[in-house]
Amino acid sequence: MKLQEKAPAKINLALDTPMRYFDGLPRWDMVMTSVDLADYVTVETHQQPGTIRVFTDSCYLPNDQRNLAFQAAHILHSRFHRTDGVTIRIKKKIPVAAGLGGGSSDAAAVLRALNKIWQLGLSQGELARLSLSIDSDVPYCIYSQTAHVTGHGEQVDLLPAFPHYWAVIAKQKISVSTPAILRQINYEQIKHLQVDKLIERIKVGEWADTFQYMGNVLEPVTAAQYPQITKIKDRMLRLGADAAQMSGTGPTVFALCHNESRARRVENGLRGFCREVYRVMLL
Ligand code: ATP
Repeated sequence: MKLQEKAPAKINLALDTPMRYFDGLPRWDMVMTSVDLADYVTVETHQQPGTIRVFTDSCYLPNDQRNLAFQAAHILHSRFHRTDGVTIRIKKKIPVAAGLGGGSSDAAAVLRALNKIWQLGLSQGELARLSLSIDSDVPYCIYSQTAHVTGHGEQVDLLPAFPHYWAVIAKQKISVSTPAILRQINYEQIKHLQVDKLIERIKVGEWADTFQYMGNVLEPVTAAQYPQITKIKDRMLRLGADAAQMSGTGPTVFALCHNESRARRVENGLRGFCREVYRVMLL
């Protein structure tokens, strides 16, 4: 049996970390949402026992157990003692190592697809719990809807969708290593966000009032190495974006615009200045 799943990119409306756990990983306090920039993941089961194969159209990605989509298939395959094999084909549209959670979203898509193909009957919460060992963003990507994400990433509380906003996403030709950025967080120096206020505004639908509470405490860490991040963000705001900030550990910067013509202006104003620019709707 064969199924195709859409795997949308995520952006962080808020990214904060109050502390590091004893295992060295950050405790997260994030608000995430997803955009209509997506990979397409086709999952097919076959009779060759035990084999998991991954094919992608990107030369930057591993096809073996290092691929997060492979790891997702392996988790369900071993836990449910499946004897059939799995072939995964990924059409990559989300830039890699960009802070857009592309690998995590591919993994979540594989989990959703195999849950249906093998009729495992797992709830979204159960899939999210199983997926945390792959990457901290995978539990969120099981849902790919606006949510407050805490803990190691496993606590996902859904929020109302952000309606009718455009995102202009700008990815420069640099790849950022997430573990390297996380190691550099200095907890003494973090200027924490008011994530609870952002959530309050989203819940009552006061969208225009949410922007002042957005933020990403990792932005100064990544921007210290890549000053272009701040330049792109300033340019987006000058071109009329309602809000602009870095997503995840970067280097991607996104602008939010309510108005389509404003979004086009931001998009056009970045072309020639930045290698990859996408204008998409928030989901
Ligand atoms: P995160 O912020 O969740 O760590 P990201 O959005 O910055 O992730 P990804 O595109 O998910 O970045 O890639 C991060 C790393 O994961 C890269 O080094 C990449 O080689 C590896 N990876 C493994 N599988 C995939 C996949 N299916 N798609 C993208 N990257 C993958």
